[in-house]
Amino acid sequence: MTDVRLNRGLSAPPALEDVPRETSGAVQTCLIDLGFPCHLACCGCDRTPEESAGYSRARRKMRAAFRARRADVLRLVFFGGDPFALPVSFEDLLGEAAAESQARGIVLEGIALSNGTNWRLDQVHRFASLGVRDYHVALDGPASAHNRSRPAKHGSSFERILNSLRWHRDAAHVELRIDATLSKADRTELLTLLQQEELCRGRNPVTLTFGPRRSCRQYAAWLATAAGPRPRPAPPALTLRLELQHVDASPERLG
Ligand code: SF4
Repeated sequence: MTDVRLNRGLSAPPALEDVPRETSGAVQTCLIDLGFPCHLACCGCDRTPEESAGYSRARRKMRAAFRARRADVLRLVFFGGDPFALPVSFEDLLGEAAAESQARGIVLEGIALSNGTNWRLDQVHRFASLGVRDYHVALDGPASAHNRSRPAKHGSSFERILNSLRWHRDAAHVELRIDATLSKADRTELLTLLQQEELCRGRNPVTLTFGPRRSCRQYAAWLATAAGPRPRPAPPALTLRLELQHVDASPERLG
């Protein structure tokens, strides 16, 4: 099953306008397994067990990627637990990445895979200033389906994600990766809610992507094969692409 991106919303907040978002040069992608804890216990998660050596390993891998520079743009994809589970450590790692990229004249493009449940606006801003402005968050359906598939250790993971998207995503572009095998009823309920919340329109719309259900590790591996220019700014509304024939999710069908 291929992934289908529904809309291509992007916008950068004014404070970040001078940070280059895209270049025409080649992109080198490096996956960084943070080895952090996670707030969720998803079915089928295959993340690396937490261990103190995990963070040093991540740092070594990042340094090696800078030393082995092969392109003008270095895309670092952070996964493995959640960046917001250890925000100080993540910021520290990003600080080093930002300094290295500046010293070596490399454009840094940070992407974080997050469970989306524990964002804080000040941390999102700080991570953005250090090069991470793209987040990928999995949604396995409306609340009941998502909470069943990706249960939080505390509370409803779905509600917490919604709160992050409502209040804490300024300065960040968010791509929601939605399980493409959802039933029609669940898909309709989810898309109706996202429309009611107006998350797909306005100054900083989220992008919706339908694809197979994956763990963060599997999704990071998929992202590595999808290297290329990042999505470009789109009209501030939910727009559909033509390759939707196998995903029955158009607004028209929602009435
Ligand atoms: S799949 Fe991702 S979000 Fe889910 S428990 Fe594993 S690391 Fe956390």
